Amino acid sequence: MPKQNLLKKIAYTVLILIVITLLFSLSLSSEKAPQQLSLNQIADKINTGEITQIKVNGPDLAITLKDGSTAVAKKETESGISETLKNLGVSSTAMQSVDFQIQDQSGFEFWMSLLIPTLLPLLVIGFIFWMMFRQAKTGANQALNFGRSNLRLSNSKDRIMFKDVAGLKEAKEELVEVVDFLKNPKKFLDLGARIPRGILLMGQPGTGKTLIARAVAGESGVPFFYISASEFVEMFVGVGASRTRDAFATAKKAAPAILFIDEIDAVGRQRGAGMGGGNDEREQTLNQILVEMDGFDRDTHVIILAATNRPDVLDPALLRPGRFDRRVVLDLPDLNDRESILKIHAEGKKLEKNIDLRKVAVRTPGFSGADLANLMNEAAIIAARRDKKAAGQEELFEASEKIILGPERKSRVISQKEKEITAYHEAGHALVAAALKDADPVHKISIISRGFAGGYTMKLPLEDQHLKTKTQFLADLAMMMGGYASEKFTFDDISTGASNDLKEATNLARQLVMRYGMSDMGPVTFGKTEGLLFLGRELSTEKNYSEKVASEIDDNVHTFLINAYEVAQKILKAQKPALTKIASTLIEKETLEHDEFYELLKPFKIKTISA
Ligand code: ADP
Ligand code: MG
Ligand code: ZN
Repeated sequence: MPKQNLLKKIAYTVLILIVITLLFSLSLSSEKAPQQLSLNQIADKINTGEITQIKVNGPDLAITLKDGSTAVAKKETESGISETLKNLGVSSTAMQSVDFQIQDQSGFEFWMSLLIPTLLPLLVIGFIFWMMFRQAKTGANQALNFGRSNLRLSNSKDRIMFKDVAGLKEAKEELVEVVDFLKNPKKFLDLGARIPRGILLMGQPGTGKTLIARAVAGESGVPFFYISASEFVEMFVGVGASRTRDAFATAKKAAPAILFIDEIDAVGRQRGAGMGGGNDEREQTLNQILVEMDGFDRDTHVIILAATNRPDVLDPALLRPGRFDRRVVLDLPDLNDRESILKIHAEGKKLEKNIDLRKVAVRTPGFSGADLANLMNEAAIIAARRDKKAAGQEELFEASEKIILGPERKSRVISQKEKEITAYHEAGHALVAAALKDADPVHKISIISRGFAGGYTMKLPLEDQHLKTKTQFLADLAMMMGGYASEKFTFDDISTGASNDLKEATNLARQLVMRYGMSDMGPVTFGKTEGLLFLGRELSTEKNYSEKVASEIDDNVHTFLINAYEVAQKILKAQKPALTKIASTLIEKETLEHDEFYELLKPFKIKTISA
């Protein structure tokens, strides 16, 4: 871009020069070139009385003839004009009839005539240099700008308030205090209270960290500066620290203000932890942030908000009192919150009147706020693709499934045999789930392939769960085995379609043994997890048990899986007619909703058992 600008400027300059030159030469040539006379001719003409006036300007003679026309001539500089003319035989009487005007050689014109031809090129060259210099200077400024932060000030037009943030009750309560302080710092300072400098918002991606930070700014009506921590760090060493300085200085100047550092883990990782390589630049940036925050005094009405989804990797120095000592955890929304988030994002979308957002909320456990916002949008897109005026319940469900499992792949050609296998596989899952006391109810069964899944059985808890019991896990395991067991039972064969189920079941069984102490091995956990376990993520697991114990763990995992398989088998054998009924209905209809499914099962009077 700057290079293009330079080229453009040079082109303009050249163009202007050409125009100037043209004008100049035109003005010169437009004066009709006057008649050129020799000195002899002049002498003759004076004698015949044809010349009325001669202007002498150095060697130049400007002659006015009697008839009004003009002529020019040159004489040698050393000798005077009258002398020359006399030598050429002009009589003194004839000479007297001519009006001689000797013009001052050292006049303005003389200098101009001397200077312009020499100065003009110099001026032009100077002009070009000036242009280039200016260009270079902006370039240099840009280089200097690397040290400036890319702080963005949110404008008041799209102001976000707490009412635009659904749920997150605890987080809001914490942050209301901040808003209070920013609105009325005196009240707090008079009481001698120290105001929090840094507040760390932590939560999984999409839980609304950025959103709630903006809402704090919106509520308090102060400038909200936003920067992503990754912008601090660039290719150039030392940039991060100076950008940090700049960001803090800008915020301080605008105080009271909020400085929001998004994704702070980009620079705030534990120093010297050796992970991601020792990035000196990052450490310097982090140090600078710490220094800046320590430099705040009681009168600094700037509050630093920072967001991260990896609080476990943050440097402890950041979390010390006086820095980010307040931590606000943003959880994934529960059922009620999901419903209200959906409501917020339903605004401005055309929806059919009778839709029930709660039903959508029920189907979307584990969705983050961002997922739900996305769901509403997907529903609108699906409705548009179906040429509907408004999105209905159908489209909302469809959107939720699309987000969980990927888009439907109706076009995928499957043979009758494959369809049958998938139908029996899914019917197996569903039937086992229906026959187990502790399993979650079946919400939907489908044999339309989606993403990588050939078909799917959606089962959802009745309410949000924070704790799960061993009985529930056992039921889950049996249900996972339902597909495999059904294939084996019906066709006496097993397809690759069951591989994912087996993988997940094995993982779950291993967790039961190693993490939850739910196996015969008793209340022990195995494997040391490096780093804090936070937000369901772990960095790496170290093996801290012997080979003997390892094989015992494997045995227990195996037992869990075999037992689950046997439970599933038992159910399917006992309910063979029901299995056939579900499978054949699936082959015919491809999907079964919750109500249809339980209606279908009614005649079979299935007694529920525990796994
Ligand atoms: P992150 O925690 O990753 O910063 P964002 O704040 O950027 O998440 O949230 C992404 C989007 O998800 C928001 O723009 C908003 O549309 C939606 N969202 C997330 N949480 C909520 C919520 N509690 N209420 C309303 N919308 C939400
Ligand atoms: Mg964010
Ligand atoms: Zn399956």
